[in-house]
Amino acid sequence: MAKRIIITEPDEILRKVSREVTIFDTRLHTLLDDMKETLLSADGAGLAAPQVAVLKRVAIVMTDEIFLEMINPKIIEQSGEQTGAEGCLSVPGKSAQVTRPDEVTVKFLDRYGKKCKKKVKGFEARAVCHELDHLDGILYIDKCKNLVLDNDK
Ligand SMILES: [Zn+2]
Repeated sequence: MAKRIIITEPDEILRKVSREVTIFDTRLHTLLDDMKETLLSADGAGLAAPQVAVLKRVAIVMTDEIFLEMINPKIIEQSGEQTGAEGCLSVPGKSAQVTRPDEVTVKFLDRYGKKCKKKVKGFEARAVCHELDHLDGILYIDKCKNLVLDNDK
């Protein structure tokens, strides 16, 4: 595994729409392993492939509750609403209140191409929505009301 560089705003790569994954080979597995190591060392809750400059529909979410490796993920059900503080490793030093669904069901493929489905709530639902947005070139700062610098808090 190797740590990759996380690109930051306003890098244009973050604004591109990522492509679907069709090949589930060792190259994909290396990407996933590298993303996990990168996320662990950055102490974040999730990471999407475009954040390490790879325009593929790949995202991981890692919290105390879950570890998800999602390929070609899609939200198929959502309910409720929550508003809470959000940050992003590609928008360092900032955070803001963002409204998201409280519960989502996401379907995706695992690293071997096997179909999976997972229902997540609360913080995990927020993290899944945030990471999936990255795959369409959307950042949370597009959705928030009051962006604040962390050192202003
Ligand atoms: Zn992010």
